[in-house]
Amino acid sequence: MRRPGGDGGLPRRATQTLPMITLALSKGRIYDDSMPLLRAAGIEVLEDPEKSRKLILPTSRPDLRVVLVRASDVPTYVQHGGADLGVAGLDVLLEHGDGLYRPLDLKIARCRMSVAVREDFDYAAAVKQGSRIRVATKYTHTARQHFATKGVHVDLIKLYGSMELAPLTGLADAIVDLVSTGSTLKANHLVEVERIMDISSRLVVNPAALKLKREPLRALIDAFEAAVGGAAWQ
Ligand code: ATP
Ligand code: MG
Repeated sequence: MRRPGGDGGLPRRATQTLPMITLALSKGRIYDDSMPLLRAAGIEVLEDPEKSRKLILPTSRPDLRVVLVRASDVPTYVQHGGADLGVAGLDVLLEHGDGLYRPLDLKIARCRMSVAVREDFDYAAAVKQGSRIRVATKYTHTARQHFATKGVHVDLIKLYGSMELAPLTGLADAIVDLVSTGSTLKANHLVEVERIMDISSRLVVNPAALKLKREPLRALIDAFEAAVGGAAWQ
């Protein structure tokens, strides 16, 4: 078929347009901790998500925009191409499963995933006796794997938030939740009895985008990598 221009190539304007790169972030901790990394890569987000209601934020790079999604929706956006890359906690990624490149540990939003119980619950004895333990958590996949590996019998109860409440109301004997300072547990008379894993946020990339927009994405991933390295020396 004949193309306008006649030289068989794309019109000149199209060849000069950079492909748009979409980065998915969630508001709060991940957004706040991602900003210094973006800044180190020479990128500024041009609008404050706390002041604006916009969900698509322009950046100082005309070919890069940020989309704001729920923390647990980041992997879905990236996997299905709603975003080319995104920042998500390892906790969220493990629940999401496969389908993403997980190229870079950004070492931000660090915490740990732990088992906690009420101060007056003898977890060690319950495990030793082989009792069935009721565990409330948002992280059912990770929790199931953890207890299966340990050979502990559990009934998992899926919750979407405020896990600390479950042992206090008798809904569960234990919870699997994220802990950073431990002050929330303490305030609710809970104690950490097992540390399952360390958690930090990862930069995840859509595999098809990595092929189609290889050079700009590679450059962006490299810039993030340099920023993480730089931050680690300070
Ligand atoms: P939502 O608040 O929308 O229900 P969320 O609780 O998953 O979602 P955030 O609280 O912003 O959202 O947590 C985002 C990520 O930050 C988590 O997936 C986890 O990796 C990390 N994170 C959560 N809690 C802590 C914490 N106490 N300290 C450090 N990092 C944390
Ligand atoms: Mg939260």
